[in-house]
Amino acid sequence: MPWNDQFECMPVEQLQELQLKNLKETLNWVYEKIPFYRNKFDEQGIQPGDIQRLEDVRKLPVTVKTDLRDNYPFGLCAVPLEEVVRVHASSGTTGKPITGPYTAEDLEQWIECMARNLWAAGIRSNDIVQNAYGHGLFTGGLGFHQGASRIGCTVVPTSAGMTERQITIMKDFGSTVLFCTPSYALTIAERAEEMNIDIRKLPLRVGVFGAEPWTTAMRDEIQERMGIKAMEAYGLTELCGPGVAFDCEAQDGLHINEDHFLAEIVDPATLEPVPMGESGELIFTSLQRRAMPMIRYRTKDITRLRREKCACGRTLIKMDKITGRSDDMLIISGVNVFPSQIESLLLDVEEVLPQYVLVIRKKGYLDQLSVRVEAKPDVYNLGAEKCAEVEKKIAGHIQGMMGINVKVELLAPKTLTRSEGKAMRVIDERPKG
Ligand code: ADP
Ligand code: ZN
Repeated sequence: MPWNDQFECMPVEQLQELQLKNLKETLNWVYEKIPFYRNKFDEQGIQPGDIQRLEDVRKLPVTVKTDLRDNYPFGLCAVPLEEVVRVHASSGTTGKPITGPYTAEDLEQWIECMARNLWAAGIRSNDIVQNAYGHGLFTGGLGFHQGASRIGCTVVPTSAGMTERQITIMKDFGSTVLFCTPSYALTIAERAEEMNIDIRKLPLRVGVFGAEPWTTAMRDEIQERMGIKAMEAYGLTELCGPGVAFDCEAQDGLHINEDHFLAEIVDPATLEPVPMGESGELIFTSLQRRAMPMIRYRTKDITRLRREKCACGRTLIKMDKITGRSDDMLIISGVNVFPSQIESLLLDVEEVLPQYVLVIRKKGYLDQLSVRVEAKPDVYNLGAEKCAEVEKKIAGHIQGMMGINVKVELLAPKTLTRSEGKAMRVIDERPKG
């Protein structure tokens, strides 16, 4: 049962008509209000009126993160700040932050998108939701907060961190839902085990995790360790924050809120469209936003789209779980490697904990990948010989599945810093430049 059948279950043709209408409006709006877009369209000799079919969107120039940085803080804002009711900003993990301004109407739409996301995860007004996303400029905290409030849940805004207190609150309040990044969910699970609290025996039943890539193997691990259903949210500051795409009870791909966002998949090298079902870089155009609409924003996220009937009844197109970011891709012995592939393989190995980092170094002309992963305590306690055996086993598994040689280093349990937000999984030690 969707939150809003009118839009979530609309016949595809009707949905596409609506998308086209909103696309045209958005293009007129940005052309009139935002010199950056007007100049780019003019340079390319294209006018909003040239877009007559949805596919024509490909004629428009793409927008990239540096465009947002160059126009920091409000150069891409289409309305005077007086009409802006909220400004978020990305954590700026990769440089100067970028901003996300909202008009009152933009904010309403975001809440609607988040309510759909959480409703699809099975969250209802009688749930007690513990929101352990960072509250503040990051869109995660307030985004989830507002969506859950719209459904009418009892919201407990714990924010990220202070893990022991999270667990105490979870137990004392009887939280039925947890919101946080998948890596923080693991940190919570681990700390609870150390505190001798079995989360599986608590009322917690659902988690909605997102903001960073995670594999289905990681999802299974979290479901198993917490005794919950691990659902997903996907989004980015540039488009509103979380609520762009979400998984339904089928847990088989994420439905995109298509009445709000038009998705394309392109080859990241050529920007040419790839055939439906093939993987490439995800590009989004916002269809209803007014303060800072995005035209063909390159997310760098790699996935594929599937237009198929879903058991849940939604007609919204589905995207696969993000397999990586195009700027995350490593090339090891000529093979393209995404950290998520290594994560899946590590989770096949029963002797290790789901805590790892990948280190890339230069050896001669070649990039060399080291996988540092923590051993389970009982394995580590068996000594060096056992550890060497497990290292060999993991390297063999990766070699066998991906055809690349990696160096595996088994670490003592608890060596790596635990994540409270977005986990840092790749350390690049190659010389810069
Ligand atoms: P920043 O990390 O720069 O502060 P955001 O918080 O807006 O910016 O992060 C957006 C990015 O987070 C997305 O482009 C994507 O790479 C990642 N992300 C968000 N949700 C998911 C998800 N469910 N799965 C994988 N990656 C995700
Ligand atoms: Zn579905």
